Amino acid sequence: MPQYPINTPRLNQTLDELGHLGESPDGMDRVAYSPEDIAGRDYTIKLMQQAGLETRIDTAGNIIGRRAGSDDTLPAIAIGSHTDTVPKGGKYDGALGVMASIEVVRTLIEQGHQTRHPIEVISFTNEEGTRFHRWLVGSRSMAGLLEQEDLDAVDDDGYGLGPCLADIGGDISRITEAVRAPGELAAYLELHIEQGPYLYRSGTQIGVVTGITGRAVFEVEIEGKANHAGTTPMAVRRDALVSAAKLVLAIQKMTAEQEICRVSTVGSIKAVPNAVNVIPGRASIGLEFRDTDMGALAAAEQELRRITDQTAVNDGVDIEVNRHRFTSSVPVAPDMQALVAEAAENCGMTWESVASGAGHDAQAIASIAPMAMLFVPSVDGISHSPEEYSTPEDCGNGAQVLLELLLLADGRF
Ligand SMILES: [Zn+2]
Repeated sequence: MPQYPINTPRLNQTLDELGHLGESPDGMDRVAYSPEDIAGRDYTIKLMQQAGLETRIDTAGNIIGRRAGSDDTLPAIAIGSHTDTVPKGGKYDGALGVMASIEVVRTLIEQGHQTRHPIEVISFTNEEGTRFHRWLVGSRSMAGLLEQEDLDAVDDDGYGLGPCLADIGGDISRITEAVRAPGELAAYLELHIEQGPYLYRSGTQIGVVTGITGRAVFEVEIEGKANHAGTTPMAVRRDALVSAAKLVLAIQKMTAEQEICRVSTVGSIKAVPNAVNVIPGRASIGLEFRDTDMGALAAAEQELRRITDQTAVNDGVDIEVNRHRFTSSVPVAPDMQALVAEAAENCGMTWESVASGAGHDAQAIASIAPMAMLFVPSVDGISHSPEEYSTPEDCGNGAQVLLELLLLADGRF
């Protein structure tokens, strides 16, 4: 049994209170830099201060709450997540990790337990990347992974990031001051909801994350010939949308049947001129592949290029494949996975290994510190939706294992 039981009702109360900020019948709206996001940040800072943490906002807008360790020459162990949401999102994505981290520190303080390492609770800003279409902005700033494109990004109305960052206490002109060098943090530990169905289906309490998925995004442009829908015989048509439709099915088959990589999704499709009485002369599809195995992603790209070449020949159209993004997968080190499993066992909980199909702040921080992640079940595997739900008991379990993991890391590093 756990040495220091966390206060599950109190944790769930903070999740509820945070969940009222930006709440609407359509879901949670705490898009980064919005008034609702700022309300959520203010609530988080207030909770940290009530818990006895010394708070600061770094120049990237990340909220950091620190508790001294018994040996302040040691680097801090960081725990946390994010409180921004996608539009019409859920109450648990990110929020659980931040609220649970604060609960962990509250419990340690109440129990009079002083860790050797300083503890930092971090609420990373703009994990979701909704407004400027650039994600993990806070955690990548801290890890020194921010690119010029992130700083130059504008929203759909042409506004830049600078004033938004100022609104939340950051400073774009000094954003590099938020960078932490490798070694400055002893470890980073993140609790998150699974956002997928595996733990819920198997009835397992804790997911030990093996790695965070890599992602390859492509835009495929098909050039056929626009012509009259009434007068052009079927045999001579070069219908770009028909070729696109064949590709959609072939890309689905690549994963659903051939299992070349874990998942594939064609999420967007365009036809030009998109008129009912014109044979589409041009079409494009946007698609992505995800897998924690980079070899599988490379194989998926190769197969995509093979089927597009074949379709071009068969249909008499021109096809161009453009690779837009290729995000590397981030593995969790085996010794860090073992530490999470040990923490779950110490708490008397069942666990299984799971891959993360979604991206997380932990993947950025992994470049400057040893990183571990644990998941709790998402009911029906639903996330980024108002229906996102994890039971109060599962949220409490996650916080309990996070506390145990923190104590193990404090002894180990
Ligand atoms: Zn998240």
